[in-house]
Amino acid sequence: MKDMAKVGLSIAAIVLCGGFIVKSVISSGKSADFPDGGTWTECNACGEMQLIDPETRGRFYDDNPSQMGQPMVCPMCKRGRLKDGLKCPLNGCFYIQAGQMADGRPVCPKCKKPLP
Ligand SMILES: [Zn+2]
Ligand SMILES: [Zn+2]
Repeated sequence: MKDMAKVGLSIAAIVLCGGFIVKSVISSGKSADFPDGGTWTECNACGEMQLIDPETRGRFYDDNPSQMGQPMVCPMCKRGRLKDGLKCPLNGCFYIQAGQMADGRPVCPKCKKPLP
């Protein structure tokens, strides 16, 4: 009986410990500017720049399976479509694709600053 209680306790400890690790991994990836935490998008109707995380995107296509393969509908105005792009780390400009300087370095197409 005593041994059974011990085994039960150690299982509980493992489960608790595992849950803690999973929790800390999830919360560590939740920074707004974290590049893997989502995609910067711009709405083609209201022009609002938004960071869409994979979870929000997944939920949208789960709720609207007919929209699969099409750009996501803007959650702000519900009219426009979101264009995927990148955020300029210097001035926060939204751009779809980086430009290129004469020497081949990437440049922000909006503010024309070389990208780090
Ligand atoms: Zn919009
Ligand atoms: Zn820029």
